[in-house]
Amino acid sequence: MPPPNGYSTAMESERLLLVTGGSRGIGAATALRAAAHGYFVCVNSRRSFEAAASVVDGIRDRGGDGIPVQADVGREKDVTRLFNAIDALPGNLVGVVNNAGTLAPAARLENMNSDRWNSILTTNLIGTMYCTREGIRRMSRRFGGIGGAIVNVSSAASRTGSPNEYVDYAASKGAIDSLTIGVAREVAQDGIRVNAVRPGFIRTAIHAEGGDPLRVERLEGALPMGRGGEPDEVAAAILWLLSDDASYVTGSFIDMAGGL
Ligand code: NAP
Repeated sequence: MPPPNGYSTAMESERLLLVTGGSRGIGAATALRAAAHGYFVCVNSRRSFEAAASVVDGIRDRGGDGIPVQADVGREKDVTRLFNAIDALPGNLVGVVNNAGTLAPAARLENMNSDRWNSILTTNLIGTMYCTREGIRRMSRRFGGIGGAIVNVSSAASRTGSPNEYVDYAASKGAIDSLTIGVAREVAQDGIRVNAVRPGFIRTAIHAEGGDPLRVERLEGALPMGRGGEPDEVAAAILWLLSDDASYVTGSFIDMAGGL
């Protein structure tokens, strides 16, 4: 299947990287930084192809390259289509950044309903599992791949539990932590490293999605470092975990929450 809209300039030697939820925030910063490190980046977004395409345009403006792919990581058929688009590219998939994530407005558990739980767990946990599975099938030396790295974007919430706000979101991230450890050990001898970053209070649109657009500004003063974080600070850690500089690191976490 040809990549859409003329985004098809990858070469045989290309190192392909998938960034889910790459249309904005931490994912977009990661995609841009990855392109600067020489990766050909598959930029995924859920709602609009155009949002992912504008990130790819930004990559191209800086001399890199990539393709945009619209897909909901919580839908298995979409994930199949997403990886089919990657399979159609020359080069080798060498990395997956499971960044796509969502939350819902702050609430106590007794006031939550199953719709929000299904939405949060389907994107954050099941989506991560779909993309991890497909990444392993392509990168594992067990299946003829050349090895690679997976970085999961967890959250400081997995450690704090986010009481009175987002315990469902926190639980989905706790599950990602367990998944990171288990899969890392499962594929450790197959040439794949699996790690996670655990950001907290990063300036992105996710807080507006949770009904609290000024959340970082409201709470950053209480953090040990006294400030929120920037998406590119998280992207730097993700790129390090993807790189050969982290060659002996697997099943590990980088906490990035200003000392929280
Ligand atoms: P963001 O700005 O809201 O970006 C979220 C991205 O994920 C968007 O590109 C969104 O695309 C995509 N997405 C959501 N659901 C998706 C799905 N089902 N399939 C594919 N893409 C999907 O949020 P962010 O802050 O950068 O968050 C990135 C990751 O960091 C998330 O996993 C989040 O939980 C984690 N995190 C963030 C913070 C923080 O303070 N910002 C702290 C801890 C952890 P659409 O717009 O198309 O839906």
